[in-house]
Amino acid sequence: MSIAGGVNLAPLRGRQVGCRTIQLFTKSSNQWRAKPLPPEEIERFRANLQTTGIAPAAAHDSYLINLASTDPALHHKSMAAFLEELERAEALGIPYLVAHPGAHMGAGEEAGLRQVAISIRELLKRTRGYQVQAVLETTAGQGTSLGHRFEQIAAILDQIGLPERTGVCLDTCHVFAAGYDIRTPDGYAGVIREFDRIVGIAHLKVIHLNDSKRGLGCRVDRHEHIGKGAIGLEAFRCLVTDPCLRGLPMIIETPKDNDFVSADSRNLRTLRRLAHIRPGSPAC
Ligand code: FE
Ligand code: FE
Ligand code: ZN
Repeated sequence: MSIAGGVNLAPLRGRQVGCRTIQLFTKSSNQWRAKPLPPEEIERFRANLQTTGIAPAAAHDSYLINLASTDPALHHKSMAAFLEELERAEALGIPYLVAHPGAHMGAGEEAGLRQVAISIRELLKRTRGYQVQAVLETTAGQGTSLGHRFEQIAAILDQIGLPERTGVCLDTCHVFAAGYDIRTPDGYAGVIREFDRIVGIAHLKVIHLNDSKRGLGCRVDRHEHIGKGAIGLEAFRCLVTDPCLRGLPMIIETPKDNDFVSADSRNLRTLRRLAHIRPGSPAC
């Protein structure tokens, strides 16, 4: 949800389209630095979460951050920026910081995974006592991006070794683009079983619901409206009715087009119809 005009406005925009959970950037997603959040803005954000009943909220880290960077200056900058992300999320009372693991830039998969794990472990230790968790997102695997195989996510979590401060975010567009075929009930069930075997469903904290403009295994990250892309409605029906995923925050990152209210409302309506939830009625 957009934070134009202040992070405090994101929950109000969420209410406008009927969200029960939201995800936001706590600062502009393509800038390294941001002014510290004014205490009044933090207070207003927390109050707006309360009055809208939106919970939990998730934060997403900046796209510039690459904790696997082989360039020392860029890695240093990424560490500082990620620390700031953790601090901002903590101040806002946001329990999950969703983060892309990073891109190894030619250093190789193993070296990249190790670098990500060492970096996150260090930052979580520096923020000892914080509630916010680093939630690693499965990726489409563009270029040298890490996190497109469940094994890579498991390897990072394993090496961090701080399960109470880490989690995983499953993005439907990304896993599909990475080659996991969730289009049929059997395919979906097989992918979830594989995720559970390799990562463990207990580590799953956030779900991103996006259709994909591009095909299975394309390794390209292009989101599409729910049911309008290469994944199709059946996968989403499986997901929103899966008892194993009940209670997890499910977030759309579908195109906002020119009008987020109508675009988001439409995608949420589609998903609630699949889950047999009528708009306005409680989920459970
Ligand atoms: Fe993401
Ligand atoms: Fe995502
Ligand atoms: Zn994406």
